[in-house]
Amino acid sequence: YMDLEEETGEQKETMDGGCPAGRADGEAADSARGQIVFDRVSFHYPESETMVLHGITLKIAPGEKLAIAGENGSGKTTLIKLLCRLYEPTEGRILLNGRDIHTFSYGEYIRNIATVFQDFAVFAFSLAENLAASRRYDPEKVWEALARAGLQEKTEKLPKGIRQAVSHDYEEDGVNLSGGEAQKLAIARAVYKDAGIVILDEPTAALDPYAEKEIYEQFFRHLAEETMISVSHRLSSCRFCDGIAVLDQGRLVQLGTHEELLGQPEGKYAEMWAMQAQYYTSADA
Ligand code: ADP
Repeated sequence: YMDLEEETGEQKETMDGGCPAGRADGEAADSARGQIVFDRVSFHYPESETMVLHGITLKIAPGEKLAIAGENGSGKTTLIKLLCRLYEPTEGRILLNGRDIHTFSYGEYIRNIATVFQDFAVFAFSLAENLAASRRYDPEKVWEALARAGLQEKTEKLPKGIRQAVSHDYEEDGVNLSGGEAQKLAIARAVYKDAGIVILDEPTAALDPYAEKEIYEQFFRHLAEETMISVSHRLSSCRFCDGIAVLDQGRLVQLGTHEELLGQPEGKYAEMWAMQAQYYTSADA
């Protein structure tokens, strides 16, 4: 899904979807920041007649951590593409803080959204540039974001501080980030962008359950105020979220917590969970 982020990059001056370093004006950062409503959203792709989303109505509260679950092809990615304005709903509307997202200018809108991919692409630039996803950055804000993401101490120890190159193996003076540190950098990026909404696209490959729990705890701790939508390609991470929206063939079929949904044995979620348990029997302690 790396190309999702590139596709949103209509404005070419930055690497992460066109948000210039920092928030130029406070306009979209009002008090109601981060509420999203899908209002009877249906959608088919331009090159196809087949409806892939059917009348999705879903309200996501500011600060809520919502997982989107569903089998392959159920519409999870499409829903996120609509939220990122890669396409317009065929029917219905998506509202940000009560306002149809297509009434904002693209640049004004997209600065509300930070996308975090758990592949955590790290570019061959300095730490600060990586964090700001731009050649231009505000050093004070970079340090703030590093502190919030728990990377301040590590950075202070680097000879060049935030100007240290993030390395690939062949760069001798670059800093190598561990997997956990790369995650923290991803968190710091979202913090730096100061977006009210964070979209987290989960890796498709299984992580060990302990590492997975750690990651989600990190994200929730450091992005407590942000609304977070996590696209779950596996179910195991859903239980860390406040709520789970279950899609089945483009329809929203269930909404609830992990426990609530497991308590509905006839439901899609319980069915998927049982399927998955065949593969993860001992790993779910
Ligand atoms: P998920 O993320 O849950 O796996 P997707 O949102 O990727 O599901 O896909 C939902 C449906 O939309 C699938 O039937 C898929 O084949 C279809 N689809 C995805 N992308 C396109 C596209 N660019 N054009 C036409 N159909 C698409």
